[in-house]
Order: sequence, then C-alpha cells, then structure tokens
Amino acid sequence: MDNCIFCKIINKEIPATKVYESDRVIAFLDINPIEKGHMLIVPKQHWKNLADVKLDTEKEIEIYEELMYIVRVATKAVITTKLADGANILQCNNACAGQTVDHLHFHVIPRYGSELATVPAFNSGAAKYEPNEAQALAEKLSSAIAAIVKDEELL
Ligand SMILES: [Zn+2]
Repeated sequence: MDNCIFCKIINKEIPATKVYESDRVIAFLDINPIEKGHMLIVPKQHWKNLADVKLDTEKEIEIYEELMYIVRVATKAVITTKLADGANILQCNNACAGQTVDHLHFHVIPRYGSELATVPAFNSGAAKYEPNEAQALAEKLSSAIAAIVKDEELL
C-alpha cells in the first residue's frame, strides 16, 4: 500500500527500532510509547485490521499464525527479562476504536505499575527515552524474542 507507514517500514523506506523480523512478521518499538518497551507486532501482509484478515491460502494462514505467536512471545519476553511485571495487549480496529494506522498491528505494552498504566487510557508519547535507551531496550527484547522462538522451535 503506497501511503502506509508500516508498509514503508517493512520495505525499509523509513527506519524503525526492530525487535523481531522474519519473512512474515515484523516487530518494532512504537515511536510514541505509552510505556518504555512498547512494541508493535505487525504482519508483512497489508491487512487493514482483524476484520480484514484473509485466511484463504497457506501463506496467509502462516502469516496470521506467526503474528499471533509473536504477540505471545513478545509479551513473554517482557516478563522473562523482568523488564516489567506485566503487559497489556492492545489492538484497535477502525478509527472509532482508536486505530490510527490502517495496517493491522498489536500493541504489546509493558506495565510498571506507574500511574501511566491507566487502562484503557491511551497515553501515546507519555514515556520518553533517554539517548540510546530505546536501542538498548530493543536489543534486550530482540534477544529474548529470538531465544524464545529458538527454544520453542515452532518457527
Ligand atoms: Zn501497510
């Protein structure tokens, strides 16, 4: 899709701080994080949202299965690294539900028990990174995701 910011990230036309990438799925840090370590898990197939997902071909099924798998693994990485004690999964479908990028994505939001963790408030940009902090956090999460994927041997 020509004007899709996530397709541009997938096509490497604009940069992102990646934590996971395969042929089917990419995950990176949200540039307007609700909390530090806030990740977006995105299929490389351009589906607008969950209602737009097609599971007609083996390839589409594999993309969707890996997407859901990485949502779980990224959540597990937040907890196993002790980055945070918990996490929220947030997924928005259409503008009325807060969807601002029309390319299916899941938010994995570490929760630290701070007052930022008001559910369901969506305080984009409330957390600020120190210089190099985002990259270091991404490397930590990336390593944990890769280790879990390797350990579980499902991909
Ligand atoms: Zn797209």
